[in-house]
Amino acid sequence: MTRIAVAGAAGRMGRRICALTFELDNLLLTGGFEHKDHPDIGRDLGELIGHDVGGIKLSSSIDDILDKCDVLIDFTAPEATIENMEALTGTSTAFVTGTTGIDKQGQEKIAELAQNIPCVYAGNMSLGINLLTKVVADIAKALGDDYDVEVVEAHHKMKKDAPSGTAFMLASAAADALGRDIEKDGVFARHGIIGERKPKEIGVQTIRGGDVVGEHTVMFLGMGERIEVSHKVSNRDTFARGALKAALWLSGKPARLYNMQDVLGLR
Ligand code: NAD
Repeated sequence: MTRIAVAGAAGRMGRRICALTFELDNLLLTGGFEHKDHPDIGRDLGELIGHDVGGIKLSSSIDDILDKCDVLIDFTAPEATIENMEALTGTSTAFVTGTTGIDKQGQEKIAELAQNIPCVYAGNMSLGINLLTKVVADIAKALGDDYDVEVVEAHHKMKKDAPSGTAFMLASAAADALGRDIEKDGVFARHGIIGERKPKEIGVQTIRGGDVVGEHTVMFLGMGERIEVSHKVSNRDTFARGALKAALWLSGKPARLYNMQDVLGLR
């Protein structure tokens, strides 16, 4: 049995992760905490997720769950994710995070901490997207520089970061396969007289609105034809199940930074 605690347990993802521990085998929910100012602190976690959790209260501090879980699953915000991972140093708890919008410095910090903490870090926990990432790299490699690569993503209006971590991941996969640098060749906004498209550009466009859970399309645009590969998520449980699958897979693994390609055996 793998004991799971959840950071951001009252958030959109946190609630579904807590709830789904009851539907999957070999998982035991042992705690959840939230930002110290969250209005639900102290409430029965079961009331929030619609399951009997045996009297577990929503805590305001990671300290309350540290010795009670094998894996901490974190879907919070960039700064909180780094703080939560730092708090695991010196414990035997592994870390799964799906928080997006973490900058380069934050990502380097995660990699450094993962030298001592087994960690799965993935901007998208769905099987479909991780498969798509592999497919995108294969298509880019096969088509080479004659086809222009553009990524379009759409998400709900509450999403705070842009482009999505997934769009960046897909654009990076294409860039790597083509021997380009997404930091240099990525174009994340176009407006005004921008001139002709540069041959090595990889465009990433963002749409925000309504309740879209997550949609990504990668286009390979050639002269006279184009290939499009798309992925659409209609339910957050897709990500929550991926996070729990990652937690089960990670339990007992040596300290290292892993991603969903590792979890799903795609690399
Ligand atoms: P949300 O705003 O509904 O939930 C985030 C929760 O984290 C909130 O309840 C907030 O109070 C809590 N929080 C903030 N700071 C905290 C702290 N210091 N300690 C504990 N809790 C804290 O957002 P969401 O839709 O659940 O998404 C959360 C993150 O996960 C975002 O970055 C989002 O982009 C990402 N996400 C990733 C995937 C994936 O597959 N990797 C899928 C969906 C969402």
